[in-house]
Amino acid sequence: MYDWLIVGAGFAGSVLAERLASERNERVLLIDRRNHIGGNAYDCYDDQGLLIHQYGPHIFHTNSRQIFDHLSRFTEWRPYEHRVLAKVDDKLVPIPINLDTVNKLYGLSLTSEELQDWFKARAEPVDEIKTSEDVVVSVVGRELYEKFFRGYTRKQWGLDPSELDKSVTSRVPTRTNRDDRYFGDEFQFMPKHGYTRMFETMVSHPNIHVMTQTDYADVKDTIPHRRVIYTGPIDEYFDFRFGKLPYRSLRFEHVTLDQAWHQPVGVVNYPQTEDYTRITEYKYLTGQEHAKTALTYEYPSAEGDPYYPIPKPENQELFKKYERLALATPDVWFVGRLATYRYYNMDQIVGQALATFRRINESLPANADTSSVQAMPASAALAS
Ligand code: FAD
Ligand code: UDP
Repeated sequence: MYDWLIVGAGFAGSVLAERLASERNERVLLIDRRNHIGGNAYDCYDDQGLLIHQYGPHIFHTNSRQIFDHLSRFTEWRPYEHRVLAKVDDKLVPIPINLDTVNKLYGLSLTSEELQDWFKARAEPVDEIKTSEDVVVSVVGRELYEKFFRGYTRKQWGLDPSELDKSVTSRVPTRTNRDDRYFGDEFQFMPKHGYTRMFETMVSHPNIHVMTQTDYADVKDTIPHRRVIYTGPIDEYFDFRFGKLPYRSLRFEHVTLDQAWHQPVGVVNYPQTEDYTRITEYKYLTGQEHAKTALTYEYPSAEGDPYYPIPKPENQELFKKYERLALATPDVWFVGRLATYRYYNMDQIVGQALATFRRINESLPANADTSSVQAMPASAALAS
C-alpha cells in the first residue's frame, strides 16, 4: 500500500514526492503519463549532443531564498541572466522596453529623465487598470503597445490584450534605465547539469517509486494508495463536468544548425512578423560549448498539450466551480499550474508545493494509520 499516489512528475509532484518520502518516511508512487520526469521543465540532449528544453525555454529566477536553497539540495547552479531582443520595425531592440529600446527605435539620445517625460506625454490615462492592454497603454502609450505587445499577445493567446487579465502583460516591466535583463529577481540561475538531472536527484529515494508512461486513469483503481496529490488539469480530474477549462498550447519546432551561433541573445521575440512568437538558442542558457547550435521555434496553438491557463474572468469563474468540487474531495490535494489554474513560474510552483507540504504536516500525523483521522482535503493546496 502506497501512502501517496502522486500524479505528475513536474515541479509540483516531484518536490512533494521528495518531501513526503524523506521527511515523513512515507511510501510514494510518482507517475507521469509522459515518458519522462520533469514535467514541462524536462531537458534532454538532441541527436547532435546539444542540451535542449523539449517544452521551450525554462530559466530559473526567484526572489525567495527559501525556494532557491531548497532546490540547491538537488543541483549546482550556473549563473545566467536572461536577455531578450524583439524584432520591431526591422530592428533588434531590448525587451522589456528600456532607454536603449526607445533611443534605438526612434533614433533619439534621451536620458533616463527625458524618457520618463517622453512616456508621460504618450501614456493614456486609464481609470482602473483591468486588462493586459490597460497595463501597457497606461505606461508607454499606444504606439509602443502596438509594436511590442498587441501582435505578440494576439499570436500567443489567440486573444486581444483587452480580453486578457492585466496579470499577463504585467509580467513584463517597463524601464527607464539601461537594464536589459528580462528578469529583475535576486536569484537567476540555470541548473548546472540541466533540469532533468536535478529532478533525477530529487526523486531518487528508496521510498519513491517512479512510473512514467502511466496515466492516472490506468492505476487509480488498481494500485492501492491512501491519498492522492494531483498535478494535472483540474477539469480532466472531474471528467470535464462543467465543460472544458481553456488552456493555451504550443507546437515546438526544434532545429539544429551546422554553425556555432544563430542570434545575439538567448531569445528573440517576434511581435510583428512570423507565425512563431520567439526563437530560443539554448547555448546561451546552458553555457554548453559545441560547434553546432540548437534552436526552438514556438508556434502557439489552441490544440495540443495544456501549457498555459488563460487568465480571463470567465475562465476564473469556471475554475472556481471545479475548485469547489476539489475542496469537497477528501484525501486529494490539487497542486501545480494545471490543477490550480494559475499562470505560475517554476519558483512559484515550488513555493506552492512546499506550502502544501507544511499543511499536510499540520493536518496529518506522519506515516501512521490515519484511517480514523479526518484528512484535510484539497483546500490545502488550493488555498495557497
Ligand atoms: P507540469 O510541469 O505541467 O507537470 C505536470 C505533469 O503532470 C506533466 O508532466 C503531465 O504529463 C502530468 N500529468 C497530467 N495529467 C496526468 C495524468 N492524468 N496522469 C499522469 N500524469 C499526468 N517558468 C519559469 O520559472 N521560467 C521560465 O522561463 C518558464 N518558461 C516556460 C516556458 C514555457 C513554454 C512554458 C509552457 C512554461 C514555462 N514556465 C517557466 C512555467 C513552468 O513550466 C511551470 O511553472 C512548471 O513547469 C509547472 O510545474 P507543474 O508541476 O505544476 O506542472
Ligand atoms: N509579451 C508581449 N510581447 C513580448 C513579450 C511578452 O506581448 O515581447 C506579453 C505576451 O502576452 C506574453 C506575456 O507578455 O504572453 C508574458 O510574457 P512572458 O515572456 O512572461 O511569457 P512566457 O515566457 O510565460 O511565455
